[in-house]
Amino acid sequence: MEPATEAPIVRVAVPVPLHGAFDYRMPPGTDTPAPGARVLVPFGRRHLVAIVIETDVTSDVPAERLRPFVRALDAAPVFDADLLALLRWAARYYHHPLGEVLATALPVALRRAGTASAANRHRGWQAVAVERDVATELARAPRQRELLDRIRANPNPTAHASLLAWLASAAGPLKALADRGLIEAVTLPGGLERGSPTAAPELTDGQSSVVEALRAGGTGFAPALVEGVTGSGKTEVYFRRIAAALEAGRQVLFLAPEIGLTPQLIERVRARFDAAFGVLHSQRSDGERADVWRAAGAGDADIVIGTRSAVFTPMPRLGLIVVDEEHDGSYKQQDGFRYHARDVALKRAQLADVPVLLGSATPALETLHNAHQRRFAHLQLPRRATGAAMPPIRVIDVRSRPLDGGLSEPLIARIEPHLAAGNQVMIFINRRGYAPAQCCHDCGWIAPCARCDAPLTLHGGGRRLQCHHCGALEPAPSVCPACGGGQLIALGAGTERVTGTLRSRFPDVAIARFDRDSMARRGRLEDQLADAARGDTQLLVGTQMLAKGHDFARLTCVGVLDVDGGLFSADFRAAEHMAQLVTQVAGRAGRAAHPGEVWLQTRHPEHPLLERLLTRGYAGFAEAGLAERREAGLPPFGHLALLRAEATDADAPSAFLAAAAATIRTSAELACWGPVPAPMARRAGRHRAHLMLHAERRGALHPALDHWQAALPQLPEARRVRWSIDVDPQDL
Ligand code: ADP
Ligand code: ZN
Ligand code: ZN
Repeated sequence: MEPATEAPIVRVAVPVPLHGAFDYRMPPGTDTPAPGARVLVPFGRRHLVAIVIETDVTSDVPAERLRPFVRALDAAPVFDADLLALLRWAARYYHHPLGEVLATALPVALRRAGTASAANRHRGWQAVAVERDVATELARAPRQRELLDRIRANPNPTAHASLLAWLASAAGPLKALADRGLIEAVTLPGGLERGSPTAAPELTDGQSSVVEALRAGGTGFAPALVEGVTGSGKTEVYFRRIAAALEAGRQVLFLAPEIGLTPQLIERVRARFDAAFGVLHSQRSDGERADVWRAAGAGDADIVIGTRSAVFTPMPRLGLIVVDEEHDGSYKQQDGFRYHARDVALKRAQLADVPVLLGSATPALETLHNAHQRRFAHLQLPRRATGAAMPPIRVIDVRSRPLDGGLSEPLIARIEPHLAAGNQVMIFINRRGYAPAQCCHDCGWIAPCARCDAPLTLHGGGRRLQCHHCGALEPAPSVCPACGGGQLIALGAGTERVTGTLRSRFPDVAIARFDRDSMARRGRLEDQLADAARGDTQLLVGTQMLAKGHDFARLTCVGVLDVDGGLFSADFRAAEHMAQLVTQVAGRAGRAAHPGEVWLQTRHPEHPLLERLLTRGYAGFAEAGLAERREAGLPPFGHLALLRAEATDADAPSAFLAAAAATIRTSAELACWGPVPAPMARRAGRHRAHLMLHAERRGALHPALDHWQAALPQLPEARRVRWSIDVDPQDL
């Protein structure tokens, strides 16, 4: 057959929720863009930024219906061939449209046509690590001191317009600081900084044998689980492998969970590697993130540290991937393209043929299973690097005990001596706000969200009601709308109420609260953590935000107020998450010279999973957890995919799901459960339901999903709902 047209045709992926790719003609006088490059295309009445996936294709679309694209946006592709292959795999594995997968992988700024993809270079200043007492040295030079503090506090010396403007007016003190050797001029690609290395500690015997085993694993694909209690020196182990990769001229991708990517971690990297590194996380501006991304793609960044989406950073010299706290829930994207960054990292390492380290004190049961099956090397660091003992974990039975703002008297009595001794105490409660609900004492009415099947949370000392699911905000009533009664009470306790109670119990102690509300302001978390690390704050109250990644030298006591939620939940992973959380917070206590203790408030002290965790630790818990999963055929012994649907019309989701279920043939290998209402059946005014596919072999699951991907858009019922496929769902 004759080619349909003279002009070459390119196939592109467009960021729309449609499966399949789209063909465009090259506009006259344009060079053919490379696969992975961005082009601006007309789509309906809009212009969209699309990614070229194939060039010189033969199209099935008649020539007269093919439109030319508007223009090419990049000289060099934004996705190299390796990354494009990874993303195409991810689109197939997660059954998500390729165009949206590619758009999710791109930094926000590069999703816009106006942002250039070439790396920027900037001149700037950065602090030099020194072992002298700088505070004394600069005691009489307040302006130099302030300048140094600003440069130090600035994670990225080259990208902040306000800092640069301020520096321009400080030529004298800048020169003085440079003469003292406290700062140095740098020219770096935008978004990067250079570490100024200090000496590494000598490895413990345990660390040495782990590092040696990893080295022996070679430089090709080799997944390894590094399991070690908090403080056992996992980070130090990663650092040795990172140093080896850098030595060999390779780039390193270091993934950390949302909450684990702390200033302390960045500081440790800065103080270890004579290498250019960049940080990618949600607190950075779009421009900074795009800078780091481009610098990595140009091969200028030696190390990229980032959260979930950093797994898609282009790295032409990739030599090692580290996934710290691999069990962490924030690695799973919970909307749109629902990928799991740990699993994508494993695939990426396999495609790039490089080692991948998964580290955790509390590995996910899936990961432990892979290690037991010898798919992953299993390396353990059972003891703390510093030799400190792990704190004992004990329970306080709070049945029929009055709670004051969530705290029992025995717990308060336990806290007291730690504070009196000048140590730090952490109280952990997984609920932000003043109280989880407002309730009428007379008739039992509970303030509901008008748009969700959930109670409203009390905030502002009990003055405001807020929905944690849709964001609705209203003043708290003082009279019951149901019975007219005047006794409205706060039910239960959140971080805000716990903090208030502790303030009145310990008026002379400095208290800080760590939750999403108190951390809304940028930089606040860093400030509060710095205060706590210095020991200025003695009592820390927080949500899981406090559970990981931070090192408080004087922390000797941890209280966990609500473990029972994890024991009784419809979500089969809830107990695993509870056990991880308890073990992680326990790992916060007694890290240095001070022995610690951990107290759990519970109404179910005899619960078998809790008992197992307390007597046999996380490993014992995991063994029982895996046995239960095997029994039930749940992951990792079975594979799940969820088809979700939602609509404003109450019946539309289940009608759609029933029609979807009717299109596939179930078998001994493939079960279809549902449709059932989602655990929160109505959210933000939309009704939600789902259908679960279960298969013992993954191979049995994917043909059904392929079929759905093609068939569901054709169903008449599909027009009335929003639907999505979630492969390996994490929250049910
Ligand atoms: P993890 O990542 O397992 O929590 P880290 O690597 O952060 O452990 O180590 C915990 C603490 O022990 C840190 O303060 C670290 O500096 C210190 N540390 C780690 N390895 C050593 C070592 N070999 N010698 C001395 N201190 C060490
Ligand atoms: Zn009432
Ligand atoms: Zn709501």
